[in-house]
Amino acid sequence: MKLNELNLQTEYLNSVDNKFYQLLNATSLKEAFLISYNKKLCDEIGLDYSECETKEFIDFINGKKILKGSKPYSMVYAGHQFGYFVPQLGDGRAINLGSINNWHLQTKGSGITRYSRQGDGRAVLSSSIREYIISEAMHALNIPTTRALAIIGSNHNVYRNPFQAQKGAIVLRASDSWIRIGTFEYFARSKDAKKSLTALSDFVISQNYKHLKDDENKYEKFFYELVDKTALLLAKWQVYGFMHGVMNTDNMSVSGVSIDYGPFSFMDYFQKHCICNQSDIEGRYSYNNQPYIAKWNLFVLADCLSIITDFEKLKQYLETFFLKYEREYLELMNKRLGLDITLSGDKNLDLIIRLLNVLESSKIDYNLFFYKLSKIKNLDDFSSILDNCIEAFHMKEWLQEYKQDLLLDPRTQNQRCESMQKVNPKYIIKNYMLQEAIQKAQEGDFTLVNDLLTIAQAPFDEHIEFERYAQATPIQFANIKLSCSS
Ligand code: AMP
Ligand code: MG
Ligand code: MG
Repeated sequence: MKLNELNLQTEYLNSVDNKFYQLLNATSLKEAFLISYNKKLCDEIGLDYSECETKEFIDFINGKKILKGSKPYSMVYAGHQFGYFVPQLGDGRAINLGSINNWHLQTKGSGITRYSRQGDGRAVLSSSIREYIISEAMHALNIPTTRALAIIGSNHNVYRNPFQAQKGAIVLRASDSWIRIGTFEYFARSKDAKKSLTALSDFVISQNYKHLKDDENKYEKFFYELVDKTALLLAKWQVYGFMHGVMNTDNMSVSGVSIDYGPFSFMDYFQKHCICNQSDIEGRYSYNNQPYIAKWNLFVLADCLSIITDFEKLKQYLETFFLKYEREYLELMNKRLGLDITLSGDKNLDLIIRLLNVLESSKIDYNLFFYKLSKIKNLDDFSSILDNCIEAFHMKEWLQEYKQDLLLDPRTQNQRCESMQKVNPKYIIKNYMLQEAIQKAQEGDFTLVNDLLTIAQAPFDEHIEFERYAQATPIQFANIKLSCSS
């Protein structure tokens, strides 16, 4: 489809009271230009990607061209930030354009809205590039996520503080939902909470849980399904060493996808207590805490839904969160290790727990470990792994135990490797790679942004020209902390 053929839907505006959103127009970036666009997502959405090279497309992202059916709006929400309740947040720099085939389009960085508080409504080039690339990397790893269709920039500066100027940018994002747990928190505290929450829940069900529409327990079931989806999401984050960095309730999607990328990180070297967010002094959002925080956030949602459902039932269901989480975690981890869970059962759990300790003490690049393991041809030669350990002693021991487990499995090593390679990517987007691409982009060169997009979207393929991205993170760049405005 051409841009002019798209007909956007804005059901949210008809579903909830108008006190929950603001209709507005974007404040355009001056002299905007295209930085990159995502052909794969264009295909998925059904947009002819040759459209992306037109000035109209830039105007569309920049808020100068309003598509058929579109009524741009920003949404209000609340949220618990680092455990503290903030009664009013909202799309402070995001504008919703409407949806097409269940893809809800939203621009981030489009200027001040009613919900901007002290902010300037802008997004800097660096964080925009980070979100653009990581969304696609997550998707390619089969981790549920919001997506990014394109990014535009401007040479006009945006100031995060009086001393730090950066170029501004806008990312065009797409998701099956932009509703957050924080949205429910805001509605639950409104004057006519019952009516408002019912409207919001019905909207979410109509968009993301369509099969529940006529179910008499639809609100409870929506919650149950979200608990399951979130358990799966967190299992995937943990298995791939992904850290979100700011798991506030306003950054948790009610469709169970990863949302609002800030100071995230794919862990370089395994550290259970790794913290990637510079401002997370106490490690509330550390790697190990993530599943607990997800459950905490879901409890906040249950509390909101108690206005229209049976709270006890929700609480009871929430208690199954860790059962589901652990089951998904083990299943995926076993796949990454090439272990057959039906053969050694609980023994695998023990092996995995010991592996995590060994990974931590051997200081090997976390995802590279799995990749190298999936390339082992001969079980008497683990040198490709041992060579990547800073301290190899315990790893050597562990690999011998691992080998004993593999000997129970009748598959050949070749067969095993083939299945492992489906879940162990060669390429993982690391912060140091993004940093390098951002630096070039600041100078007006977007080659590395597009290079990273290529490997992000096809991380299991060979890319001979990008071999350097398949190496361990240089130690000086490993597990660095990022600020929220990175
Ligand atoms: P975040 O930490 O990105 O999830 O944002 C938390 C809240 O601050 C959200 O309500 C954002 O819309 C708002 N916010 C973040 N940055 C800005 C900005 N530059 N201008 C306006 N609002 C912002
Ligand atoms: Mg946010
Ligand atoms: Mg942010």
